Amino acid sequence: MQKRIAIFGSTGSIGTQALEVIAANPTLFSAEVLTAQQNDELLVQQARQFNPNIVVIGDENRYQKVRDALAGTDVKVFAGEKALEEVAAMDCYDLMLAAIVGFAGLKPTLQAVENGKTVALANKETLVVAGDIVMKKAIEKRVPIIPVDSEHSAIFQCLVGENLNPIDKIILTASGGPFLGKKPNFLVNVKRDHALQHPNWSMGAKITIDSATLMNKGLEMIEAKWLFNLKPDQVQVLVHPQSIIHSMVQFEDGSIKAQMGLPDMKLPIQYAMAFPQRLVNSFPRYDFRKPNTLTFEEPDIKTFRNLALATEALFKGGNLPCILNAANEIAVFAFLRNRVGFLDMTDVVERTMEKVSYIENPTLEEYFESDAAAREFAATLIHL
Ligand code: NAD
Ligand code: MG
Repeated sequence: MQKRIAIFGSTGSIGTQALEVIAANPTLFSAEVLTAQQNDELLVQQARQFNPNIVVIGDENRYQKVRDALAGTDVKVFAGEKALEEVAAMDCYDLMLAAIVGFAGLKPTLQAVENGKTVALANKETLVVAGDIVMKKAIEKRVPIIPVDSEHSAIFQCLVGENLNPIDKIILTASGGPFLGKKPNFLVNVKRDHALQHPNWSMGAKITIDSATLMNKGLEMIEAKWLFNLKPDQVQVLVHPQSIIHSMVQFEDGSIKAQMGLPDMKLPIQYAMAFPQRLVNSFPRYDFRKPNTLTFEEPDIKTFRNLALATEALFKGGNLPCILNAANEIAVFAFLRNRVGFLDMTDVVERTMEKVSYIENPTLEEYFESDAAAREFAATLIHL
């Protein structure tokens, strides 16, 4: 039987690659739900190609345009933020691919878990913001959360077959981004177009900037803590510029397992969608016989201070990761509009973390309030 997939964020980098996986495996998967925020034209094109049951356009001003374009088809069209949650609560799909970017992904993902649907999770911000609540709910509802983020997929793949063998630590690899080895005197002049060029991965704008500032790796440390039920000091970051080892797990006997391959997000996407099966594909293969060197180094947290801030949030927990995430979303948004400099992004995050009140065990409501308070304060620093 086909697995019915709901892609939340189908017009993004992850969403479009997931549709390529579906197109390549039509007997295994169908696209039942597709959602987009702004890109109505691509959403309509995807709906024509994949004939889903439902599409949701986040921006309500574009509802009529999408409806008109899909008139005469049997695709149902909904619009608005609330509709995302309502559709996530429906029974028409089996697996949600959570591929919305940022805090906006939290509510629909939580709704899918509440609804007992398997979640293939690309949207790391969901776990950064409210990992305790999401994971508790997933355990209560017996919902598998399968990571799509390449590092976490690597760790997940290393853990398959290990039953309950305890983890000693995980080693999260980081490419180091386009500014590996650079110092603040260089970074201070970096502009958006330069920061948008990632050496190994082609991704959405927000995560590409996060990769350049190393905030992405910081968010991933927190994501890993929740996914694999780790203590903060069991999460180690290692710079590996070639991005061939996607991450590693060290077990209690000292044995280390790694998952490797050429960097291609379609692999973790299809692994999460087909788990526990592995699907045949024609993606290029890594060849150890070709001249190549794999190198490793410690991250430079003095220069890339976001990693230090995220480590602080990882250790202190509570609403601090939520505050860090919200301030970072505002800072990245401003940087993409050339409103702040590259290094200013870290200052915005740091000052917001100092300003917004710490709560040790927040409720979901308190996470939303912390997010709003952090955004409001961060915006005053930027004069948006
Ligand atoms: P993207 O910007 O390319 O796409 C984001 C998608 O979310 C789009 O479909 C967009 O319409 C939708 N969206 C944006 N804002 C929204 C809102 N407010 N409400 C509802 N929908 C909204 O992003 P991406 O690179 O595909 O990343 C998606 C998520 O996956 C992020 O959380 C990112 O960290 C994670 N991720 C991405 C990659 C990658 O290779 N791109 C790798 C690992 C993890
Ligand atoms: Mg990643």
